[in-house]
Amino acid sequence: RSKSAGRNCFTIYDEAMSAELEARNTLEGDLRDAIARCQLEVHYQPFMDATTGTRRGFEALVRWRHPARGLIPPDQFIALAEETGLIVPLGEFVLRRACADAANWPSDLMVAVNLSPIQFKEADLFDVICAALRDSGLSPQRLEIEITESVLLERGAENHAFMERLKHIGIELALDDFGTGYSSLSYLTAFPFDKIKIDKSFIRNLTHQPRSSAIISSIVTLARGLDMSVTAEGVETAEEFERLKALDVNFVQGYLFGRPLPIDQIELDESTERSQRDAA
Ligand code: C2E
Ligand code: MG
Ligand code: MG
Ligand code: MG
Repeated sequence: RSKSAGRNCFTIYDEAMSAELEARNTLEGDLRDAIARCQLEVHYQPFMDATTGTRRGFEALVRWRHPARGLIPPDQFIALAEETGLIVPLGEFVLRRACADAANWPSDLMVAVNLSPIQFKEADLFDVICAALRDSGLSPQRLEIEITESVLLERGAENHAFMERLKHIGIELALDDFGTGYSSLSYLTAFPFDKIKIDKSFIRNLTHQPRSSAIISSIVTLARGLDMSVTAEGVETAEEFERLKALDVNFVQGYLFGRPLPIDQIELDESTERSQRDAA
């Protein structure tokens, strides 16, 4: 009896596993097609100077316009893209699209692009970035690259040298999702970041947990000492914004200022539109 129960369990487990594998394979095939058929879109979310409230640039965030499932957010396919290596062509697509789009924006606006740790393992990443800049005509000073701490854990020396090369040509480097990973403060001193982006989980608790204020305040102090600026991501309320200004954060980003939008829906020249509205 126990033998057959065991066999049944095994069968069920096996079926569930193969169903999961099949779903995964379908998704992988679909994603491969999506890249080839240009079903990926880059949306843009503004980030602002916290003191002046003026817009400083946009972060490029990928979305997948699936023919049957609609718009799929990156959390549902980036991990798979990383496991299958598809992140390499996907990442190059986003980089090229973002540079080409930003080249048409007013020249005081930056564009921030997320790079996966997997892309860092590609020997030609520097050439890919240079080609994206050259082909779009975007000045390297207007490109910011966001990376997460995981890049610093592996191949530290190589990645450090690579980051120095990017900085040397004028590209800015941001440490994304700060505080969520294996945050070691020594990374901050060892790698040449221009900016730290504090993860939105800290912002969420800001207005009801004094501890969050203390953490953000320490990050700001630390960043100042290292000559880096600080962005708070995921700012949703005016109350959070006020608190962050008081804590001397340099940049803010979040739904309060704008959601990620397709390129044809972002207002590029707010001041012109405002004066046109005023004149009308
Ligand atoms: P991230 O780089 O930390 O991007 C910020 C995420 O927070 C975005 O989610 C954005 O839509 C969301 N967000 C912005 N403001 C708010 C807010 O006020 N409240 C809340 N709750 N969320 C807010 P999204 O677009 O779903 O992207 C998720 C993650 O996927 C990104 O996190 C990034 O790690 C990854 N990702 C997105 N695009 C790319 C890409 O082109 N390449 C790579 N490698 N990763 C990407
Ligand atoms: Mg980011
Ligand atoms: Mg982030
Ligand atoms: Mg993130």
